[in-house]
Amino acid sequence: MKYCTECGQTLEWKTPAGDNLERLVCTSCAAVHYQNPRIITGCVAQWQGRVLLCRRAIEPRTGSWTVPAGYMENGESMEQAALREAREETGADIRLDALYSVFDIQAINQVYIIYRGVMRSPHIAAGVECSEVRLFEPAEIPWNELFYPAMGEMLERYQSDLARGRFTLYTGTSVSGRVSSIDKDQVQ
Ligand SMILES: [Zn+2]
Repeated sequence: MKYCTECGQTLEWKTPAGDNLERLVCTSCAAVHYQNPRIITGCVAQWQGRVLLCRRAIEPRTGSWTVPAGYMENGESMEQAALREAREETGADIRLDALYSVFDIQAINQVYIIYRGVMRSPHIAAGVECSEVRLFEPAEIPWNELFYPAMGEMLERYQSDLARGRFTLYTGTSVSGRVSSIDKDQVQ
């Protein structure tokens, strides 16, 4: 961001009175332009034990596989955003069941909120940001072509949760965190 969205004048980094961090402040109207982490919502969903993944047709990491996820829009709830992204990217109609992973990637100022869910039908269709959508059997997951390492760790945990019939919840960062057991929520 270079120019003030209020008056169009140039911005400079400075610490506003009463603040303790440098912000982009307008040199003319003094408007403070805060920059904060962005929220990405998505879901890991399955159909009869097969996991829904889509292949990215956009940067970054074009061609890598990922669970459907994207930036939350203003005015949406977290669950609405997760379902919209899944619908747009994969065409899938999903019932969200619970939170599955909440983590941040501090290096790029993003917060991920990933739900788990079950597809209501096996229908899938790649959206404009995807080159391909597929349901993967556990043995077929393209581990070496996933979007980023934390995605692989989440999918490994998901597969093992599905196999033993009990789900967990991860909270932490993209590199380290805590896995909690969810005792009463069985796999359906
Ligand atoms: Zn201004």
